[in-house]
Amino acid sequence: MITLPKDALSAASLTGSFRAGGTDLQARRARGLHHGDVIELRDVPGLNTISPGPTGGLKVGALTRIATFAHHADVRKGYPGLAAAAAGLATPAIREVATVGGNLTQEVRCAYYRNPNLVCLKKGGDACLARGGDHFLHSCFDQGACAAPHPSTLALGMLAWDAQVELADGALLDAAGLYGDGTNPRTTHRLTQGQLIVGFNLPAPAANERSAWRRVSHRNNAEWPIVEAIVRVVFDAAGQITLARVALGGVGNTPLRAVAAEEALVGGPLTEARLMAAGEASVKTASPLPMTRWKLPVVVTCVQDTLRDLLTLETP
Ligand SMILES: Cc1cc2nc3c(=O)[nH]c(=O)nc-3n(C[C@H](O)[C@H](O)[C@H](O)COP(=O)(O)OP(=O)(O)OC[C@H]3O[C@@H](n4cnc5c(N)ncnc54)[C@H](O)[C@@H]3O)c2cc1C
Ligand code: SF4
Repeated sequence: MITLPKDALSAASLTGSFRAGGTDLQARRARGLHHGDVIELRDVPGLNTISPGPTGGLKVGALTRIATFAHHADVRKGYPGLAAAAAGLATPAIREVATVGGNLTQEVRCAYYRNPNLVCLKKGGDACLARGGDHFLHSCFDQGACAAPHPSTLALGMLAWDAQVELADGALLDAAGLYGDGTNPRTTHRLTQGQLIVGFNLPAPAANERSAWRRVSHRNNAEWPIVEAIVRVVFDAAGQITLARVALGGVGNTPLRAVAAEEALVGGPLTEARLMAAGEASVKTASPLPMTRWKLPVVVTCVQDTLRDLLTLETP
């Protein structure tokens, strides 16, 4: 194991995989799914702070613990939907250890992928085993050969707020830059060896916006979402919606925006009729697999319920 004592930038010249909280990487190593050097990020200073961004948003260090992020006053005030998502993902124990950067770059949870005795497309094989087998919990927006839903809850925040990750070399990547379009089955993100995320940059929230998060899962806690959504709506002074974001997780090989739902929201007030229409529109471009059609009404209801939550919120 290689430990980075201070300068994260030198990581670019090292070979191996970064370990932040280790909650995903160590699980994969324990199953023999990951081999090779580990570059320990734990002691890299300066990457676990949350500070004001240059244009009024927040700069969140990649090593910030998810629990710290979820409960930070500025995150809760400016991005309540994302704070709720962070506070609700995984388990309390994982949130205490796992980091923002590790969450955004974790691997898929597909049981075929996690089985050390099987080699699917993502592990360099020539077939997606889930497509011919059990894909009950997989994608209902079929983007490419790998049908595993993207695992990161925090990635929905990238879509809802146009957030970017900052790499050690200064490059900034939006969600498309970090995750691509889901057509490459071999990778879950587009970072290459040695590319280190140092920060998660959230733009300033709009003057009059509301946001919320909901998920549907088998249990309340400690379970991966079947479907989850962050919705964000910006109002003008007359209460008309001028911008809407509906970010969906658990449904595609990348985190996805439900653009048709967003379009159904913009141009009027947030009413029961409007949010019901937006929910219906959220699956307009869905392309379910044989075993995932059942997810579509779950997506619709999840989006409608999350939007309905906005009706009861005070604007910040
Ligand atoms: C029961 C259970 C339920 C869960 N539910 C959810 C859920 O609902 N939503 C959700 O999002 N997650 C969920 N998780 C997953 C959990 O959130 C992740 O394991 C965790 O966020 C990973 O963060 P980490 O810091 O431990 O990453 P690590 O395990 O340290 O790293 C994960 C990957 O990211 C890479 N990496 C880490 N940091 C960086 C960096 N700064 N730059 C570049 N690459 C980096 C590593 O090399 C590795 O490949 C769940 C896990 C469990 C066990
Ligand atoms: S869905 Fe993806 S991870 Fe799962 S078996 Fe298919 S290629 Fe592998």
